[in-house]
Amino acid sequence: MSVPEQYFRAGHIAADVRNEIEKRVKTGDSLLHIANTVEDLIRERGGEPAFPCNVCLNEVAAHFTPFLDDQQSVSEGDLLKIDIGVHVEGFIADTATTISFNPMYDDLVEATRTALSEAVKSLKRDIKAGEIGDVISSVARRWGFKPIVNLSGHMLDQFRVHAGISIPNVWVSSTERLKSDTVYAIEPFLTTQEGAGHVVEGESRSIFSFLARKKTRDKELDEMIERIWSRYKTLPFSARWLIDSFDRNRVREMLERLVELKILRTYPILIEARGAYVAQAEHTVAMTEDGFRVLT
Ligand code: MN
Ligand code: MN
Repeated sequence: MSVPEQYFRAGHIAADVRNEIEKRVKTGDSLLHIANTVEDLIRERGGEPAFPCNVCLNEVAAHFTPFLDDQQSVSEGDLLKIDIGVHVEGFIADTATTISFNPMYDDLVEATRTALSEAVKSLKRDIKAGEIGDVISSVARRWGFKPIVNLSGHMLDQFRVHAGISIPNVWVSSTERLKSDTVYAIEPFLTTQEGAGHVVEGESRSIFSFLARKKTRDKELDEMIERIWSRYKTLPFSARWLIDSFDRNRVREMLERLVELKILRTYPILIEARGAYVAQAEHTVAMTEDGFRVLT
């Protein structure tokens, strides 16, 4: 057995797009423009977005992608997280970066990157997921920051972003081990001492995926279900991706109707519980017979 080569292609594209967007982003850019740019760069390189590009500012930690009418943009003083998913034939690479427009948070970003690199360096065959969490929280402590305890990395599988095993950002007494020929995203999220060290759900819900594929007896909704299934399968998607096929003024309400019908699920935005700023770094790694390979 070995890791399918599509993972390596997806990883190469994801890393390339991350490096490119880090160079391009500047204050004044809208979040909508950043997300669209990332997704276009992925497609130009022969991949597909594995989920809508997440662009999260400041205390927003995860699960935000702009709607079509989003008005937010990056300002001086902001901490911007960009989370990028690429798939090639369903095989996913997941990577993220934080860009600081505020010198007060440069250390937080550096600490988060260090937590990721030390977590990656600690990898070895059959390592327990909880041991990786221990490395991440130790680095956070050493730098005077806190890990976000209720966000974690995850195993990846074909067309599955979260495929069972979690990689925590703190030590946990789990017995789950990272086996060879499987792929994982490792993603420390760190916040400041003022933070609670955990996230809570906010109001905004802009990312969707299938819960159950079934008929509604409404022709237009059924068409939307089939369109989503044929394009995205079980992967998360954005309302932005459906305006080529449906009325852009009605896409959001149609998706919300499908959520009510329990056909789709939606992911609430996740916000630091005390409103402290959060930084994130993420790589995807393949565990191999003799160690690991960083794909991103
Ligand atoms: Mn990610
Ligand atoms: Mn991830």
